[in-house]
Amino acid sequence: MVQQSETIWFDGKLVPWADANVHVLTHALHYGTGVFEGIRAYECSDGTSEVFRLREHMERLVDSAKILGLGMPYSAEELVAAAEEVLVANNLKGAYIRPLVFVGEGAMGVHPGDNPIRVCIAAWFWGAYLGEDALEKGIKVRVSSYNRHHVNVMMTKSKACGNYVNSVLAKMEAVRDGYAEAVMLDTTGHVSEGTGENIFMVRDDVIYTPPASGVLGGLTRDSIITLAGDLGYEVRETPIGRDMLYVADEVFFTGTAAELTPVREIDSRQIGEGKAGPVAKLLQTEFFKIVKGENPDYEQWMHRYEVK
Ligand SMILES: *Cc1c(COP(=O)(O)O)cnc(C)c1O
Repeated sequence: MVQQSETIWFDGKLVPWADANVHVLTHALHYGTGVFEGIRAYECSDGTSEVFRLREHMERLVDSAKILGLGMPYSAEELVAAAEEVLVANNLKGAYIRPLVFVGEGAMGVHPGDNPIRVCIAAWFWGAYLGEDALEKGIKVRVSSYNRHHVNVMMTKSKACGNYVNSVLAKMEAVRDGYAEAVMLDTTGHVSEGTGENIFMVRDDVIYTPPASGVLGGLTRDSIITLAGDLGYEVRETPIGRDMLYVADEVFFTGTAAELTPVREIDSRQIGEGKAGPVAKLLQTEFFKIVKGENPDYEQWMHRYEVK
């Protein structure tokens, strides 16, 4: 269950949590015509708070809407201000922030016509997505029987609501079979990503991740690539086969929700020592230092705000 807050920003103003509702004939409910973001705000060690890469998340939201051809009524700057408004109004020092842009009610055909484009931003407290234990010990995953989207079937660069049916299928299959998450292959058979996370592997101290072309360009992915480079690691963006994952020294997922979650087993094969490996641990430690505002070298990624 979501830990409820007081208010949600909806079409330009704050409304009580319980009143942020829509009609059942909302176009997006029927056809998946919406785009969303997942953003995290962290309480910093010095008592302030920061939203991690807020501006880039809102720019991606605007891009996602553009890819779907939705006329976005707000600019990235306006959305940045709105997110801060929600955090402050709800006294949230740390939070998960969920903006959603969707086609509202009106025309019921497939063509969205001139139905209103509605925008909301909710924020609530949400701990570790795959569990605190997962961050420490790593998770067991399986390769999904479902393929990830082909780049000309769904728009993989858009965080589109409809795209997520594919993720829900893979996630339900994985959980049903006793796994925490699924690894999805693309339609050429190469590793693409998790159901809402990007994937990395380490072999002989080199870090590998699938090219950005067919996966959602995760901001956590981007942050980890930058951080790993700054720490002296070579990062190669290259096609990866599932067998490469089986013999990797380390595998881990990255995402705003999952943060950096190590993988300890794939398809019943132990990965490395069967626990969080040294590279994942180092990157995770440094990543958490950054998001908690403890590393001034990455201050440009912080959107600081204060809750009284
Ligand atoms: C959101 C998302 C990610 C992770 O992106 P972040 O910006 O790191 O949160 C990865 N894959 C998919 C399919 C996603 O929707």
